[in-house]
Amino acid sequence: MKKIIFINLFLFSFLYALCDKSSINNAYKNYYKYQQEYISAILDNNKKNEIKALEGLIECGEFLKFNVTDYKQKLKKLKNNKLKTKIYRKTSSPDTTPSNKIKKPSKYIKIYSYNPLKMKIPDTNIKFFTIKTNLYKKIIDLPNAVIAKPVTKKIGKIYLKIAQFNKKTVRIVYYSKEKFTIKYTLKNRIITIKLNPLHKKQVIKSVLEKPKAFKPQNKIIVIDPGHGGKDAGGIGVKNRYEKIAVLKIAKYLKNYLLQKGYKVYLTRNSDYFIPLKKRTHFANVKKADLFISIHCNIAPKHKKSIHGIETYFLSPTRNERAIRVARLENKEIKGLNYLDQRVILSFLNKDRIIESNKLAIDVQQGMLSLLKSRYSNVKDNGVRPAPFWVLVGTQMPAILIETGYLSNPLESLRLFTPAYQKLIAKGITKGIENYFRKNP
Ligand SMILES: [Zn+2]
Repeated sequence: MKKIIFINLFLFSFLYALCDKSSINNAYKNYYKYQQEYISAILDNNKKNEIKALEGLIECGEFLKFNVTDYKQKLKKLKNNKLKTKIYRKTSSPDTTPSNKIKKPSKYIKIYSYNPLKMKIPDTNIKFFTIKTNLYKKIIDLPNAVIAKPVTKKIGKIYLKIAQFNKKTVRIVYYSKEKFTIKYTLKNRIITIKLNPLHKKQVIKSVLEKPKAFKPQNKIIVIDPGHGGKDAGGIGVKNRYEKIAVLKIAKYLKNYLLQKGYKVYLTRNSDYFIPLKKRTHFANVKKADLFISIHCNIAPKHKKSIHGIETYFLSPTRNERAIRVARLENKEIKGLNYLDQRVILSFLNKDRIIESNKLAIDVQQGMLSLLKSRYSNVKDNGVRPAPFWVLVGTQMPAILIETGYLSNPLESLRLFTPAYQKLIAKGITKGIENYFRKNP
């Protein structure tokens, strides 16, 4: 009885997956598709589609480690509104199922896995499992591995796909209409896979490519300390000005990046005012590879308990918290109503949004990992899409970092402490390095 229930549950989740989790890129694409669908659904007042889009956003968002709390709340509200219809969609499979036993393997395929952390692949962490749908699928997940380009091969009647499954995992999938078995062994970081049945001439050797090394000297980074001059930005407890803290952090960041060999420019070097448009224009003129805007946050009604670090990338969003922060940072721009803004945002280059999103994830992780190692009570408020106008005009991946809340006494004090400012700058540097290593 238990078995039947398990199988049913599995089939259910398999057939009705909303998000293509075969690679991070696919999940991103799905996520943006659902964002568009969500906006359309709202315009058409189509509750069915709204629910469908939200479910997709949640599934993809959770996979991509986004904060999906707001989507979940919205979905709950909608479902409570007497709407009983459940809508699901068939998409391609997320591959998860328990493993099978292996019989009589014969020929070999060698795959050399590349690991940027120079850690051996612990064989205990390799996951191997089988899926049977209309196809037979054998899946091996390699932890701590990176592949630059996906590999697709055909070996007799068996297909092989190797691709990045998530940030740290390379997934190897064999599939065929006909039954087959595989067996793997691991020695000196080399995984050897036996495939049965397999004809002699179809033995292949496949090498996972190393990501191309990048040269920091060839990368230009524009750092944008928010506000300045007549625009103080947020004013926190004890009259601490955002424009002061962000300039300090930006200068530390500039030095760390220079030490690593990057070309770095600041949009402002001291306390003067620059309009938002000029900041992005500057980055475009410098042909920057990345644009990093640095800010501090203020909680609604200066509520003291709210704190934490969040990184935004430019994207249309209905997330109210993101919109609230965007309003604070966008106040310079006038005469655009919400619909105008949305229309403009809908023309944004999707690839650039995806790149900005990846950069935001790496930078957020970089900051959090360093800060948490030395400070207590450091809060991760996640990576969020938001319609920041300072990011609209840029032609390169661009993010806006809210390094903390000046309205929170502890965080505000830290944001004005050199040791903490330096650690934030170091964390951002770490994130940028990780981003370039994966996206040379
Ligand atoms: Zn700001």
